[in-house]
Amino acid sequence: MAWWSRTGGLEQEPKKSVPKGIWTKCEKCAATIYDADLEANLKVCLSCGHHFRMGTDERLQMLADEGSWVEHDRSLESVDPLGFRVDSKKYTDQLKATTKKTGPGDAYRAGTATVGGLPVELGAFVFEFMGGSMGSVVGEKITRQFERAVAHRRPAVVMCASGGARMQEGVLSLMQMAKTSAARARLRDVRVPYVSILLHPTTGGVAASIAMLGDVIIAEPDALIGFAGPRVIEQTIRQQLPPGFQRSEFLLEHGMVDMVVTRPKLKATLERVLRWFAAPAAPAVAPDEPEVDELAITRSADDDLP
Ligand SMILES: [Zn+2]
Repeated sequence: MAWWSRTGGLEQEPKKSVPKGIWTKCEKCAATIYDADLEANLKVCLSCGHHFRMGTDERLQMLADEGSWVEHDRSLESVDPLGFRVDSKKYTDQLKATTKKTGPGDAYRAGTATVGGLPVELGAFVFEFMGGSMGSVVGEKITRQFERAVAHRRPAVVMCASGGARMQEGVLSLMQMAKTSAARARLRDVRVPYVSILLHPTTGGVAASIAMLGDVIIAEPDALIGFAGPRVIEQTIRQQLPPGFQRSEFLLEHGMVDMVVTRPKLKATLERVLRWFAAPAAPAVAPDEPEVDELAITRSADDDLP
């Protein structure tokens, strides 16, 4: 028997547990923010307005009316048509591991929901899933989302956050740019609006396709939005880029996005935009127009917002 036993005379001190995640330090202004306050402010710094990263579920929850979200195509899964490997790591294994972490459905979530009572086809890139890269599944889900929007005459809303095309799927991932753009064009044909919301970061093939094809393009403050990264451009053109290049505010100033909206105001703004499209306006629907349901989208998506 040991000469000294823990269970002997010493009284066990109750553990002083310091609950984790009470305070967060702002990445930008270094202010210490009480977590509950940060959550209540939709993860926007209370002192400098910096937008912290937000999960896809939270984002969908933030925009969709409570209990209105009905998800589609969650079971679609990527295959590995090229037998792709990086450093002996198989793409299929990478997919499995990522799915385990972030849940099924690849890097995109699509569903039907209402925003301020207005039915919409809502979708969001899952940045947590391989950088929100657009492979065959993402492209297919977006295409189906747009097809539902056309069939039901409901506006489509996409929240973009992506590193671009999924190179593990080679040319098939690049094809999604054309495929989604073509599906988007059909919305225009039947005059159903498409609102694109650009989050940090929206780059590569996604920025070069559906992200920039919105009738109204809304960006979150200070989001990186562009095709190639600033360093690559700088090295290619051998010129220094202006400050703030490829950030939302810079793009707004140069006419690439329509508005920069802070997260707490995003839902109200989206609602306002959707209502504007839904409002009946003269001239009324042309006689040869197909009948529209409760949304009665009669304004052309090409009309200017007031
Ligand atoms: Zn801050």
